[in-house]
Amino acid sequence: MVVTVGADLLAERLLHNPQLRVQVAKSRSVCQSLVLAEVTRVGDLLDYDRGDWLDPLTLAQRMGLSRPRTARRVFQQVKAALTPAARAYLNRALSEGAPRPPSTPGPLDLSIGPLPRRSKQTPHPFTASRLHELQPVSFQIAPRKYLYTLTLHTLHAHTLVSHPDTKWRDLLPPLEGEQPRWASLYSTLVPRPVGDISWRLLHGAVSTGVFLTRFTPIPDTCPFCNVRETLARVYLECARLQPLFRLLTNILLHFWLHFSPHLFIYTLPIRGPTKSWDLLVNLLLALAKTAIYKTRERRLAHEMSCDCGAFFRSSVHSRIRAEFLWAASTDSLDAFKERWELSEVLFSVTPSGSLHLTI
Ligand SMILES: [Zn+2]
Repeated sequence: MVVTVGADLLAERLLHNPQLRVQVAKSRSVCQSLVLAEVTRVGDLLDYDRGDWLDPLTLAQRMGLSRPRTARRVFQQVKAALTPAARAYLNRALSEGAPRPPSTPGPLDLSIGPLPRRSKQTPHPFTASRLHELQPVSFQIAPRKYLYTLTLHTLHAHTLVSHPDTKWRDLLPPLEGEQPRWASLYSTLVPRPVGDISWRLLHGAVSTGVFLTRFTPIPDTCPFCNVRETLARVYLECARLQPLFRLLTNILLHFWLHFSPHLFIYTLPIRGPTKSWDLLVNLLLALAKTAIYKTRERRLAHEMSCDCGAFFRSSVHSRIRAEFLWAASTDSLDAFKERWELSEVLFSVTPSGSLHLTI
C-alpha cells in the first residue's frame, strides 16, 4: 500500500515502485508504452477536465494500443494499491480541480551513441571495433542488443580498434571476392552446435596446443603429427586432414566449385539463383569443420576412431538418412530430392524407392 499522502501522492512513481505494485507495468513493452504516453506518475492517471480518472480507452490510445484491456488493468492495480484515504484524496482533488500534479514532463528525450574520438592506435583495415557503425538511438527505446554492443565496444575500444575482425585476415589474406561470410555460417540446414563451431573457428576461438600449453600441461604439438599446433595447423595443414580435403575437393567439383582454404574457412555466400546448392555446400563445410574439431578432442581424450574423414562421412550419411526417412514417412520425397539430391553427388534414390549413399 502506498504510504505517501497529500500532494506528493500525485507525483508518486507508477513504474518500478516497490510500494505501488503495478504488476502489468513489469512487462517491458507496457512500461515503454506508458513512458511514451507520458503516464509515469499517479497524477498522470487523472483527467481534471472530466473530473474523473482518465478513460481507459484514451489511455490505451496514448499508449499506442488498440484495445483498452491493458490500460484497464493499470487502473485496477493502481486503485487496489491505494489506501481508502489516498483514494478519497484523489477524488477530492478531481472534484475541486486542484492540486494538480507538478508540471514536470516525462523523462527527457535522451539519445545514446558512441562519442567520436581519435584513437592513438592505427585502426586495422578490417577492424573488430564496430563503434564507427553505431548511430545514436533514443535511450528510452534502445534495443538491449544495441546497448550491449555499445558498452562492450566502448569499454574495449582501444583493444578492438587495432584488431582485425578475424585472425584469419592475417593467416589467409582475403583474395578478391573471398571474404568472411558471417551470414553463411548458420542456415536452415546447419544445426546450431555445428554452426557454432564454424563461428568459433572463424573467430579463432577454438583451442590449439600453442594456446593451451600456456596454462595446462598439454604439449604444444599436434597430437597427430607432432608439429607445433597452431590454428592453421589444426584446421588446414595437418597431414591427417588431407584425405578429408581430397574428398571435399571431389564433392565440390560437382558443384563447379574449387575447394580452397579460403572457401573452407570463409564459406560460400548464399546467392539467390544457386541458393539450394550454396546452403548444401555450406552444410558440408560446416560438418567437415565439426569432424576435425571432434576427432581432435577424441584424440586428446585417448579415444578410438579419430579419423576425421570417416567422422565426416558418417555425419553426412546419418543426416541424409534421417532426412530421407522423415520424407518417406511424411510422403514428401519429391521435396527431399529437390533439396538434397543435387546432381546425385551424395546419394541417389533407386526407382524402388530405397536410398543409395554414394560418398
Ligand atoms: Zn597435425
